Amino acid sequence: MKWKSHREVTIALAEDLGLDISQRERMVEGSVYPDKVGMGKAKGKSSIFGVPLTYPHHKETNERIRQILLRMRSSILDGQKIDPFDIGCLAHLIQDRAVFPYSHSNFEQFELEIAKYRVKNEWRNPTAVPTVDGRILNALPNILTIDNPNDPEAALKEGYDESLLILKSLLQPPNLPSDLQPIYERTKKSISSKIILRYAYWFLTYLNPLAPVNAYLDRKAIANQNIVKRYGFAKEGAIWKGTLSILACLIAWGAWWGFWCLLPLIGQILTAWIKIPIELMRNLEWFNFEK
Ligand SMILES: [Zn+2]
Repeated sequence: MKWKSHREVTIALAEDLGLDISQRERMVEGSVYPDKVGMGKAKGKSSIFGVPLTYPHHKETNERIRQILLRMRSSILDGQKIDPFDIGCLAHLIQDRAVFPYSHSNFEQFELEIAKYRVKNEWRNPTAVPTVDGRILNALPNILTIDNPNDPEAALKEGYDESLLILKSLLQPPNLPSDLQPIYERTKKSISSKIILRYAYWFLTYLNPLAPVNAYLDRKAIANQNIVKRYGFAKEGAIWKGTLSILACLIAWGAWWGFWCLLPLIGQILTAWIKIPIELMRNLEWFNFEK
C-alpha cells in the first residue's frame, strides 16, 4: 500500500483502538516506518521485537507477523506497555497483505487505485469486531490472504478490517477470560494430583544423554511456574522429544547408551495422561492463567 493508504487506515484504527491523540500520532508514524526501513531511509531501528522489517514485506510476512504478535503478547502478559509506534509497524505488515506483492505486474497500478479511496464511516463498528483468543495465531494464514485482488476499495477495507481484528485480539486484557476459569481450575487440580506421573516425566526425560537437547525443547516448560502451562508446553514438544529419542536410539545401534536414549520416549508417552483441554492449550502464550 501507498503511505497515504497506510495512514488513512491507521488513523481510523488508532481511534477505534481507543488510543489518545499523542499515541495515535505515534501509531500512524509507525504505520509507514517499515517502508522506510525497506528503502534504507530509516533513521532508527530496523526491527521490532527482534523481527526484521526489511523488504520485501510480502516475503514470509505471515511468519513475521506471527512472531511479532507472540512477542508483543508476551510483553503484555508481563504487564508491559506496547509502544504505539510498534503497533503501527505491525499494522503496516498486516495491511500489505491485502494487496499484490511488489513482484506482481499489477502492483503499482493497484496501489495507485487504492490511494484514491478513503475509509468509510459505515465500515467502522469496532465493538462488533470480535476479540479472538490464541486461535488468532493459527487463523493468520486464512486472515492474511488477498481476498479482493481486483477491487481497490475492497482491498483498502480488507486492510482495515484485518488489522483491526488482529490488533484488537492482541491488545485484549492479559488475564484468562472468566468463561475459561472453571476449565483452568479443574485442569490444575487434575495435574496437581498426578504426582508420580509428573516425577516420572522429569526422570525419564532427563536422566539420559539427551537431557541437554530435551532441556532446550522444554525451555518454556522449565521457565514456567504455572503448573498447567508447564505441562502444556511439555506436551507441545512431546513429538519432537519422542522423535529425537527414537533417532538417537537408531544411531546408537546397540551401543550401551542407546537404551538410555529410549527413556525420553516413554516420558513423552506418559504426557498423554496429563490432560489439558484445547481451550487452554491454544492459550498457553495468549493469557496469564493466574493473576
Ligand atoms: Zn510495505
